[in-house]
Amino acid sequence: MARVLIVGAGLTGSLCAALLRKEAPRPVHLAVWDEAGDSGGRMSTARSPYNPQSTVDLGAQYITCTSHYAKHHQSFYDDLLALGILKPLTAPIEGMVMKEGDCNFMAPQGISSIIKHYLKESGADVCFRHCVTQINLRNDKWEVSKETGPPEQFDIVVLTMPVPQILQLQGDIANLISECQRRQLESVSYSSRYALGLFYEAGTKIDVPWAGQYITSNPCIRFISIDNKKRNIESSEIGPSLVVHTTVPFGVTHLDHHTEDAEELIFQQLEAILPGLPRPVATRCQKWRYSQRKCMTGSCKTAISGSEKMPESTILWSIHVEGRPETHSHGMKPLGNKTAFSASNGYV
Ligand SMILES: Cc1cc2nc3c(=O)[nH]c(=O)nc-3n(C[C@H](O)[C@H](O)[C@H](O)COP(=O)(O)OP(=O)(O)OC[C@H]3O[C@@H](n4cnc5c(N)ncnc54)[C@H](O)[C@@H]3O)c2cc1C
Repeated sequence: MARVLIVGAGLTGSLCAALLRKEAPRPVHLAVWDEAGDSGGRMSTARSPYNPQSTVDLGAQYITCTSHYAKHHQSFYDDLLALGILKPLTAPIEGMVMKEGDCNFMAPQGISSIIKHYLKESGADVCFRHCVTQINLRNDKWEVSKETGPPEQFDIVVLTMPVPQILQLQGDIANLISECQRRQLESVSYSSRYALGLFYEAGTKIDVPWAGQYITSNPCIRFISIDNKKRNIESSEIGPSLVVHTTVPFGVTHLDHHTEDAEELIFQQLEAILPGLPRPVATRCQKWRYSQRKCMTGSCKTAISGSEKMPESTILWSIHVEGRPETHSHGMKPLGNKTAFSASNGYV
């Protein structure tokens, strides 16, 4: 049975695993490795240490289905809506730009529930704290090394992490990327920002008329969400939770600072925007070094399937489209801004 490794347990990796399980013409052994301690990637959901039911989405806040996406993959939204994993976003988000035909959805159980759903559907062997460091070619197989433990061999490896992290990998993989492909991959750039999650005691009131707000006049804060309100959850037993996303300039300026120092500055700015905000019982600060993909330069656009206007999460559909059997051995295929390597003479 072919052994397939998907590196990254974010949206792309989890959906790729679920689609491979469903569509592979022959049974495959699927493994998903992630360097983090849980699934979600940039769709992660953090829990209060005092009440696991109090959660914040630290990365993606809501999912926008444009008319273009609806045309191409409505069934994915329909499945998630039927299962209650997604629900229409009805709470007011001030400053949100809506285009005609757009529908926004939120995840009542936290945005990472989407990823957990796909991983479960895939039946993959999911391993956390597996940080891939090297990929080498050994006897017609890909030998994948991680920070700790012995290397393992696979027939196919799909890399779903942000492009700069792909380019940091050592071993034969570095030489298999042609100069042209490397230049194209190097031109994919990302914004950086911080997210600060705040958890409050049950019964705390945060008295604002919105569930989320885009801020345009603060050098540090770009977006605030009362996360339980965004998901229409108001309970006397679960404390409210709030998440703040910083501006990109703040993220870039403080990229190499200690997270605790950035947290203090974000907190001060939040108090200036929402005076009288009670002290939280717990906080969680996340530095997103690779936050959202920025627009690409001309040369890269041609190499990357889809449009430069696509949100990065849609790139996963390219995996579905392109992840078909291929006939060349040791081939490398860029998939969206991700890359798949196959050491067999068939994809699966
Ligand atoms: C602050 C923020 C707000 C956003 N808001 C929205 C939004 O509202 N709506 C929306 O649709 N999108 C939003 N996005 C974008 C969205 O979150 C991403 O497009 C999507 O989650 C990307 O998923 P992915 O699986 O491609 O990558 P990731 O989620 O980054 O997954 C890659 C995974 O690879 C792992 N990894 C990296 N290197 C290694 C290694 N060497 N070995 C093993 N594992 C490794 C990482 O731990 C990670 O889990 C937002 C993103 C951020 C950061």
